[in-house]
Amino acid sequence: MIRRFNAFSDNYIWGIESQQTICIVDPGQSCEVLKHLENSDQLYSIGAILVTHRHYDHIGGIKDLVNSRFAGSDLKIALNESPIFNKLPIFGPADCKKYGVEHVVSNGDTINIGDYIVEILDIPGHTEQHVGYLFKSVNDQLRPAFFCGDTLFGGGCGRVLGGSLIDLYESLKKISKLPQETLIYCAHEYTEANLKFAREFFPDNSEIQRRYVQVKKHREKLLPTIPTELSYELKTNPYLTCKSFNEFKAIRMSKDNWKG
Ligand SMILES: [Zn+2]
Repeated sequence: MIRRFNAFSDNYIWGIESQQTICIVDPGQSCEVLKHLENSDQLYSIGAILVTHRHYDHIGGIKDLVNSRFAGSDLKIALNESPIFNKLPIFGPADCKKYGVEHVVSNGDTINIGDYIVEILDIPGHTEQHVGYLFKSVNDQLRPAFFCGDTLFGGGCGRVLGGSLIDLYESLKKISKLPQETLIYCAHEYTEANLKFAREFFPDNSEIQRRYVQVKKHREKLLPTIPTELSYELKTNPYLTCKSFNEFKAIRMSKDNWKG
């Protein structure tokens, strides 16, 4: 089961549960996670922390979680098949070491956590170093879940804030090759604004128009639009449907200057 926690004004922190243990992705804050653990009937513990990139709204809650009474579990965790014995292992890219990351991961690494196998993909562009975590269940019973931080969003993609446009373009191409049924767990609820821009930029695209109307209704009821399915993004996300780097660049730069 994958649990959603709200943080700041529009961030999502994700919790992947396995055998009464929860693994937290991108804890920008700790309060909602700790509140949930304190109020739960289950004997929860935090098994691991996974960080996608160095921005404060993804790492700011690490210390509190590590120092909480929920830190550490009996869950079997291994990185590239070598067992890890830390109380609460923290995974992430190399530039996150100063924020507590002890196990640096990059493209091609795999982590075994309880019932999951997690594949690491380098997806830079938003920041120079940025990883994504593809969770697959060991028994193949669940759909793949990809935690992509600030690289791909519902109907949009991250801004370049330390990385480069060409890296971002290549990273999105890489994500688009994952299994189409993959659920995308990004770190912000930006879908409505992204599609508002997209329908202005592509007024003749009926798929985008239709999705915008659906998402707007959804958000009026304060319902989340994430996770989103990759197959859906491949049809309605202009950063995935664009045909060339130049087209991608034109859309991304217009969005950067868009006032909404
Ligand atoms: Zn970011």
